[in-house]
Amino acid sequence: MTAPLPPAFLAAAKDLLGPKGWSDDPEKLTAAATPWRGTFQGETPFLARPASTAEAAALVKLCAAHRVAMTPQGGNTGLVDGGTPHGEICVSMTRMTAVREVDPFNNSMTIEAGATLVSAQETADAASRLFPLSLGSQGTATLGGLISTNAGGVAVLRYGMMRDLILGLEVVLPSGEVWDGLSGLRKNNTGYDLKHLFAGAEGTLGLITAATFKLFPKVQRATAWVIVASPGDVVKLLALVRDHAGDSVTSFEIIPANAVAMVVADIPGTRDPLPANAEWRVLIEISQPRAEQAEALLTAALEAGAEAGLVQDAAIAASETQAKAFWLIRESIPLSKRAYGAALNQDISVPISRIPAFIDACNAAVRAHAPSADFVIFGHVGDGNLHYSVVEPAGAAVPTLKAHAEIVTRTVFDTVTAFGGSISAEHGVGRLKRDELARLRPPAATQAMRAIKTALDPLNIMNPGRVVSV
Ligand SMILES: Cc1cc2nc3c(=O)[nH]c(=O)nc-3n(C[C@H](O)[C@H](O)[C@H](O)COP(=O)(O)OP(=O)(O)OC[C@H]3O[C@@H](n4cnc5c(N)ncnc54)[C@H](O)[C@@H]3O)c2cc1C
Repeated sequence: MTAPLPPAFLAAAKDLLGPKGWSDDPEKLTAAATPWRGTFQGETPFLARPASTAEAAALVKLCAAHRVAMTPQGGNTGLVDGGTPHGEICVSMTRMTAVREVDPFNNSMTIEAGATLVSAQETADAASRLFPLSLGSQGTATLGGLISTNAGGVAVLRYGMMRDLILGLEVVLPSGEVWDGLSGLRKNNTGYDLKHLFAGAEGTLGLITAATFKLFPKVQRATAWVIVASPGDVVKLLALVRDHAGDSVTSFEIIPANAVAMVVADIPGTRDPLPANAEWRVLIEISQPRAEQAEALLTAALEAGAEAGLVQDAAIAASETQAKAFWLIRESIPLSKRAYGAALNQDISVPISRIPAFIDACNAAVRAHAPSADFVIFGHVGDGNLHYSVVEPAGAAVPTLKAHAEIVTRTVFDTVTAFGGSISAEHGVGRLKRDELARLRPPAATQAMRAIKTALDPLNIMNPGRVVSV
């Protein structure tokens, strides 16, 4: 049970937010405390839905005055138990969706934090520009959540992570003061770059209410589904494709054969684009101003890959529909894996050159604890980012995974660390990885993070217990 809120706080918050801006309906509170994956259940005594920066600031001031802790929330699609309240009030940003400005000549747009990623992509498109961030949860994930987790996705290779795409932010600080850092400037060397403090802070340092983003020229894409023998060949092929196509390589995703089988078994209407005995596939996307340029670059790169013995077979999408069918397989892996059986999922990164050795070492170390384990290793290999899942089929004869979950997870994290990697490549820390990171990251980094948190949020009311404990 969550502690009851001070009556004076409740009365003032309701008054401030108006009837559309708050709820204590148990069904709505349960929904707000249940993340997309449903893997961890939280609880909250109050749902606040501010409609403007002024309302959000007044609410945060009220929280500070009454020492009421809050969890900022966007689409609640985060995967590390960061945006799900655990006793805090839930501050949902989903009413703040206005497009404040689009400036195609400055290649920038300013949008409020509760807008979804898809709506931001559409806003850019309507101005004949591209907003390149793209990921599986884009219909629900909000700009504020994506900034707060410094989200990655499938176009990082070319455009960078969310941090690289923001030019300015508007943030309500834990005191209730508003920092108006909205700016379309690309050059602005005026001391500490505060926006980067809030990107990836997972709502622990302030409530993001709006952001100015970079826009890019629109592009045409060429997409290929490629059969490759081993992770070693995948890494060599990445280098070769980039030698041919340079920065126009937008996506380079690794997909194992067993994941394709899981998706095809789970999702009606899907089929293996290029059945083959080899164990690995790569989904490659190249983008250029004109479609024929993209296709020519991709074709030349794949021919060179075949000559080098790295490409066993390949299909270049002949239409947008076929490209979408390739991507559907890739994007369906997380859900179809759940249908397959038990899974321990990690979002890790290691230096690209070390990926083949890491996979061998980590699989062997995990199998020592869970002999019946199998692996689904997929994701943004072009960024050195693997979604490393240890799986066990439902109804395994001798199930070992669940009983050994803790040691398996620790084994994966220790192996990642030994390979110079990160135990959170793009999903963030939340409550899920906070303690493991305190164990694995250099103590000086944890101390610096605590100092920043305490300086900005001395009352510890802004998403307490996420990222770093104080
Ligand atoms: C199917 C699926 C695919 C995904 N694919 C990817 C992927 O490819 N790459 C990737 O990086 N991630 C991926 N994710 C996870 C990703 O973290 C989230 O999709 C997204 O970044 C979170 O946005 P959200 O609005 O749902 O935020 P929430 O889940 O609501 O919150 C996430 C964090 O941000 C904080 N927060 C939210 N809004 C604000 C705000 N306005 N101000 C301050 N703090 C705030 C919350 O407190 C929390 O700590 C995927 C998730 C799903 C479900």
